[in-house]
Amino acid sequence: MRRAGLVILVCLLCAQAGAATSAVADTEPAPLVILWAVDGLEPSAVSPATMPGVSSLVAGTDPDAPTHTWRNTRGVMVAETYPNHAAMLTGADGLGSGILGNTIWDGSRFRDVSAADLEAETLFDTLAAERPEVDTAIAVGDPKIDDLFRDEPYDMRWDPRHAKFTLPIAGYPLDSEVTSAVLGQIEDGADFVFVNTQMVDTFGHLSGPRASTTRQAMREVDRQIGRLIGALRTMGEWDRTLLFVTSDHGMEATPRRFLLPLALLAQGDTGWKADTHGGTALLAKPGATPAEAAAVAERLHRWSAVSEAHATGGPLDAAHPDWRLDGPRAGNVVLTARPGHQLVGFDFMGWLATGTHGGPGALDHWLMLTGGSPMIVPGDDSVHTAGNRDLAPTIASIFGVPAPAQGSGRILSEAVAPEV
Ligand SMILES: [Zn+2]
Repeated sequence: MRRAGLVILVCLLCAQAGAATSAVADTEPAPLVILWAVDGLEPSAVSPATMPGVSSLVAGTDPDAPTHTWRNTRGVMVAETYPNHAAMLTGADGLGSGILGNTIWDGSRFRDVSAADLEAETLFDTLAAERPEVDTAIAVGDPKIDDLFRDEPYDMRWDPRHAKFTLPIAGYPLDSEVTSAVLGQIEDGADFVFVNTQMVDTFGHLSGPRASTTRQAMREVDRQIGRLIGALRTMGEWDRTLLFVTSDHGMEATPRRFLLPLALLAQGDTGWKADTHGGTALLAKPGATPAEAAAVAERLHRWSAVSEAHATGGPLDAAHPDWRLDGPRAGNVVLTARPGHQLVGFDFMGWLATGTHGGPGALDHWLMLTGGSPMIVPGDDSVHTAGNRDLAPTIASIFGVPAPAQGSGRILSEAVAPEV
């Protein structure tokens, strides 16, 4: 609507002033950037059979849809939903954003992260401050992601709790519902939309990343991405579109379960709280000393399902400085599971799941950029490593604003050329 008004106004000015050339140059449409996170999409499971539309874009069969895909990707630890969605919007890893995991240690217990825990500036902040005329929107299928960003200064929000069609029990809106919401926001003038769809993650957890139900969910989100692209073309928006399709994390098949609280009991380590995240677990005990934490880590490392165990407060950072997890919010000890295993507590979902994320094996995620914008440099990229932290600085650069301040990602200049 806003753009239509602008075009009419500029046309009137052109007619009156007769300065057609410069006025038309000034009406170069603003970019339309859509960041779509397909939750839990395991990159190695993407194929022409599971995601025909996306695969065809990657193959470069459509000359009007230049596409850049990365083969080497890296999300942030803990390789799960909220740290990686925070990374997309802040450009920061767990220590930088404050969102280390889906839950964090607050000194007395592990609790779900909330908007108050987000310590870094987001893309919504920089766009609102630097280019308030850019209309921003959020449409996410996970109410907890919606909650995490509820204090951000976006212009439009779709509430996933008000969806017409949701998946029974899980309660997440169907991907088609989210897509309809996104299309509505673009019709209302959105220039940047942050999207999350949940179905691939839900079925990946339930039955594993390569199960037939998960493949059906992949085909459905592929259809919805195609529906969005088709609609953008019909709406005349395609030529200004840059569509990032990413996943927050991969998904590992983990048929074997390791009951962490029972292991602690067997070791005689009482008073410890275990917070399991599938491929990773955080442990904490109020008042635990570094020596106590080191001893617990050493004992847990002897179990065959545990691949690594490090105390926080130095040892974890020394072993894995790139994980950027060694802070008070991670508790006293961090564990990772061997491939094929998941670390579980006494929670129903952990026992039901046969696919999981959280560990280093789920850091590799899907990432592609497509659209009709002349800014896109196509390529099937096995040279550069890209990841969720790079999206905020890259999108900021597309809009010509500074990257969010606490970010550590880079601008994906191999895929986005300066505006011509
Ligand atoms: Zn996720």
